[in-house]
Amino acid sequence: MDVAIGTAFLDEVAARLPNLRLLTDPVDLDGYRRDETAYLEPPPPLAVALPNDTAEVAELVRLAALHRVPIVPRGAGTGLSGGATSVAGGLTISFMRMNRVLEIDRANLVVITQPGILNAALKRAVAAEGLFYAPDPASTEICSIGGNLGTNAGGLCCLKYGVTRDAVIGLEIVTAAGEIVRLGGRTTKDVAGYGLIPLIVGSQGTLALITEATLRLRPSPPPKATLLAFFPSLVAAGDAVSALAAAGVEPCTLELLDRTTIRAVDDDHSLGLDRDAAAMLMIESDLPGSAASRALELAEAACLGAGAVSTIMAADQAEADLLRQARRLAFNSMERLGVARMEDVGVPRGRVPELLAEIQRIGREQGLTIATFGHVGDGNLHPNIILERDDPDGQAKLERACDALYRAAIALGGTVTAEHGIGASRRDYLELQRGAGAVALMRAIKTAFDPLGILNPGKVLPDR
Ligand SMILES: Cc1cc2nc3c(=O)[nH]c(=O)nc-3n(C[C@H](O)[C@H](O)[C@H](O)COP(=O)(O)OP(=O)(O)OC[C@H]3O[C@@H](n4cnc5c(N)ncnc54)[C@H](O)[C@@H]3O)c2cc1C
Repeated sequence: MDVAIGTAFLDEVAARLPNLRLLTDPVDLDGYRRDETAYLEPPPPLAVALPNDTAEVAELVRLAALHRVPIVPRGAGTGLSGGATSVAGGLTISFMRMNRVLEIDRANLVVITQPGILNAALKRAVAAEGLFYAPDPASTEICSIGGNLGTNAGGLCCLKYGVTRDAVIGLEIVTAAGEIVRLGGRTTKDVAGYGLIPLIVGSQGTLALITEATLRLRPSPPPKATLLAFFPSLVAAGDAVSALAAAGVEPCTLELLDRTTIRAVDDDHSLGLDRDAAAMLMIESDLPGSAASRALELAEAACLGAGAVSTIMAADQAEADLLRQARRLAFNSMERLGVARMEDVGVPRGRVPELLAEIQRIGREQGLTIATFGHVGDGNLHPNIILERDDPDGQAKLERACDALYRAAIALGGTVTAEHGIGASRRDYLELQRGAGAVALMRAIKTAFDPLGILNPGKVLPDR
């Protein structure tokens, strides 16, 4: 971008928004280049703005449109697809100062919140009122609601409660022209016109900026009961997932960890897991009273029938919390093994055993360690490709492994990304999965929302 355009834009921002926190020092800017995709090398942004309210966001976007300056919305920067990575000559708008819960409406079971609040902080705020916000990414303590809306985040209890999109009934957005528009509200059933909320949730900041959200709540569920089952092979664990469905068990959490992950997590947290097992399932129920233990007894029988070598029921709530926390931190445990790239493929649940076999094949063929864990109940696995540090061929190996992985997921009727998003890192595979017709429709939608192409360019849609 022309330096003069950047300077004129920043001068006008400073003049019109004198109270705005605006970062332009290269040292500050460096911290806003990346998200958690360490393998991407984005340029530093022109500047970073940390607005306090919607009016500041709208003015920033209006000025950006006037000067044709690209905008990157950013939450907590924990994304795993490069969605919040900076763009050359662009303004990154961090929402982390807009982090207030505006209202908890008990009668309508909704919370109205700004986007910068962390997922776990929102959960705690509503729990204090005896209420429950269900979407539960493993990154709950470090990711923001705005980022969850941007990516349509999933997590550990989608099986029972759905993904982020299922919890959203209202949004306040700032359009690419800098207009403030309200969509939906507190009404749970509403079919007036096209569904714009589901379109914006998951669009990774390419269609609009989200400045406020109205989210569905539920009464707090009972504490969870937790079962671990250990298997001699990945295929047996995959079979158990189908057996659970056949037995009519509907857990709130159904997570898989393979042997490399079991050992890495056990090394970090000394949990006494079966380190020789090829796979472990973590199964949780939050049904009331004795219904939870009955569900887990059924689950245990289904796992043993599928070949589980041992099972453990968490003794109490503290032990269950510890096990869940260890699962949440599995990616950190991976990062101690080398440079870890977390992938995010999904397949129909019944094809999980085939996907697991494909992941093993790819690891063997590429000579790479791939440690897999994930939300197996949703058919969503996170193969973590582990590279030795400073491997000069690392990037090429990663690209080959990801290419094989994405093609395998698509061939199994699945997706290259179940919850992390296309972002900047998977754009080349969008058309392969969705087809040219669908991508043409997506381009038309993008043009309708953002005719100048200033909202998060280079994300989601492939280059022409
Ligand atoms: C250890 C670990 C575990 C994880 N576990 C999960 C998991 O279980 N499930 C899951 O889904 N993800 C998971 N993630 C990925 C990540 O935490 C999620 O994608 C999360 O939703 C990103 O939130 P964020 O606040 O960090 O957003 P960012 O990374 O800052 O942004 C994410 C996207 O949202 C857009 N965006 C941010 N704010 C706004 C806004 N206000 N308006 C419009 N667009 C916006 C950005 O442009 C970007 O495209 C994990 C990540 C890590 C590091």
